[in-house]
Amino acid sequence: MLDSKTPQGPLADMWTHHKNNIRLVNPANKRLIDVIVVGTGLAGSSAAASLAEMGYNVKAFCFQDSPRRAHSIAAQGGINAAKNYQNDGDSVYRLFYDTVKGGDYRSRESNVHRLAEVSTSIIDQCVAQGVPFAREYGGLLDNRSFGGVQVSRTFYAKGQTGQQLLLGAYSALSRQISKGKVKMYNRHEMMDVVLVDGKARGIVARNLVTGEIERHSAHAVVLASGGYGNVFFLSTNAMGSNVSAAWKAHRKGAFMANPCFTQIHPTCIPVSGHYQSKLTLMSESLRNDGRIWVPAKKEDAEAVRKGTLKPTDIAEADRDYYLERRYPAFGNLVPRDVASRAAKERCDAGFGVNETGEAVFLDYASAFVRYGKTEANVLGLDNPSEAKIKELGKAVVKAKYGNLFDMYRQITDDNPYETPMKIYPAVHYTMGGLWVDYNLMTTVPGLYAAGEANFSDHGANRLGASALMQGLADGYFVLPYTIGDYLADDIRTGPIANDTPEFLEAEKEVKARLESFINNNGDTPVDDFHRRLGRIMWDNCGMARNKEDLTQAIANISALREEFYAKVCVPGKLNGYNPELDKAGRVADLLELGELMCKDALEREESCGGHFREEHQTEEGEALRRDDEFTFVSAWAHKGEPKDAELHKEPLVYENIELKQRSYK
Ligand SMILES: Cc1cc2nc3c(=O)[nH]c(=O)nc-3n(C[C@H](O)[C@H](O)[C@H](O)COP(=O)(O)OP(=O)(O)OC[C@H]3O[C@@H](n4cnc5c(N)ncnc54)[C@H](O)[C@@H]3O)c2cc1C
Repeated sequence: MLDSKTPQGPLADMWTHHKNNIRLVNPANKRLIDVIVVGTGLAGSSAAASLAEMGYNVKAFCFQDSPRRAHSIAAQGGINAAKNYQNDGDSVYRLFYDTVKGGDYRSRESNVHRLAEVSTSIIDQCVAQGVPFAREYGGLLDNRSFGGVQVSRTFYAKGQTGQQLLLGAYSALSRQISKGKVKMYNRHEMMDVVLVDGKARGIVARNLVTGEIERHSAHAVVLASGGYGNVFFLSTNAMGSNVSAAWKAHRKGAFMANPCFTQIHPTCIPVSGHYQSKLTLMSESLRNDGRIWVPAKKEDAEAVRKGTLKPTDIAEADRDYYLERRYPAFGNLVPRDVASRAAKERCDAGFGVNETGEAVFLDYASAFVRYGKTEANVLGLDNPSEAKIKELGKAVVKAKYGNLFDMYRQITDDNPYETPMKIYPAVHYTMGGLWVDYNLMTTVPGLYAAGEANFSDHGANRLGASALMQGLADGYFVLPYTIGDYLADDIRTGPIANDTPEFLEAEKEVKARLESFINNNGDTPVDDFHRRLGRIMWDNCGMARNKEDLTQAIANISALREEFYAKVCVPGKLNGYNPELDKAGRVADLLELGELMCKDALEREESCGGHFREEHQTEEGEALRRDDEFTFVSAWAHKGEPKDAELHKEPLVYENIELKQRSYK
């Protein structure tokens, strides 16, 4: 049985009590301790900057040419915090409650409550760094709503929230780099984690420019290496995002938790062709004002698909605003898993609106009018024409979402100010990840995981704008406290040598693996395998899953992996810049992860959040959880082949929230 090390006592006091009682490392001793942070996205940058500020010696690694290019930069819509600036009834408890409910009661109460508690500090921290959050007319920070909640608690910087937050964290990191407290290794990829006497004591990294293999030691290692949505090949993630750091840790003993919990985001630009390698998110913030619909009549849907009927010519009465119809209480702002499945249901039933039948409309026409009327009032215009109202409304929408509208237009060549956008669900985020206890430590002593790389807070479905919150909570406010509890034992250890047999052995294995890729006499490019893996995952472990398909997928992935090692072709050289070689190693790991995801999905015989098992649904087609048997975190131990992984369970105990069937009606 896994021990989450959740502190005792009332939930609301737990974190304070824990901070008051865990061990500390005094300032002089911190200077004797080295910490490696792999990843400098929001979680890693904030962790590295904070640990260095506290006095630890930090080595930070990222595979991009700068921490500023971490995938976090892509985040558009916003970051949640229970500030209650809108005076709409928000509170720490409500954020906690919404997050546990949104995650379909599959997350740990203690972690989620802590997240909600520290959320308010994150905003203060970022404002102090100069993050330009959107402000209202009076100068106060503005908020908007995201799915699964009935308050406005999302702070944002236009559609570039991740970029602005990352610049804030990067500036904190840069300060420590310039002081010499952080040694930054850009364009370095962690290839393995090194264990000495069962503890994480360093990593083997590859310089992606020179190809050189390096050994780096430390007293503790933090993985903030992001999520693994790219196992589906097509996703909204940056193309470089991969699972390798977490997977290497898994192979060395770190348990992988809930790997099948994947988030499929409802509002993405639909797939347009076979050679596409990336999908584009249209931020969830657009669901604040946009209305989602499909034609109510099949013949209209068909005509739209053929291009003989324009959506703007379909009368209101002939439109099906299916989210508003099915979920009146939350309407277009139901959580992502619910909205995605509802879109799939309509498209599967033949109401899709693009050539492939896999798209629904996201329409701003009524928002233009609503905003336009308010604006006309503000300007004191009497009886403004319809055209004037629309013009004013469009200007308001442009100010709020302009860059997202521009992006849509550039990609699709359709003008979303004149015609509704077409959207469809796409893979976006992974709630699963390395299992961590309350201190964010994995099952390997001294090995921590933060941000999207861990499984900690979102259960079976993450609410929008909560990933940035979690990454920064982990990096700025959790890890800096909890890591000291472990490092307190290391104040007399002295520097960790990096030439011990454990390091040399790990280095040898890394080199051998790279050489085997280069020397393989294959003829099939890496991307070919990745694309095929993605197809298997999307078809069998995507928005809907069932026993038969998952069983087949496990066999198919295993066969694909075998073929990969036999036939993969990696051009270029070993000792130098070789992105194909980088990719081969990452895809090899994804080929193992995919199999474990399917196994996890197969074992979880219930529907919850992002995991919808067709065998377990209500008569209305909603997810049917099976709390009696599945109220636990599945944490998998590596045992060779992914299909042989061993299941460990962390029971989830709900003492502060009553487990209910989720309803957004
Ligand atoms: C398009 C898009 C929009 C989003 N919008 C929002 C939003 O509005 N609000 C929200 O809350 N969330 C949003 N998300 C989710 C959110 O952006 C991510 O979950 C979050 O940024 C992840 O941060 P991270 O620090 O954990 O990882 P990342 O930002 O992915 O950083 C990972 C880091 O690890 C490094 N790394 C990985 N592997 C290795 C290795 N082997 N060796 C060395 N370095 C390695 C990388 O170089 C990088 O520095 C969005 C996601 C997408 C895809």
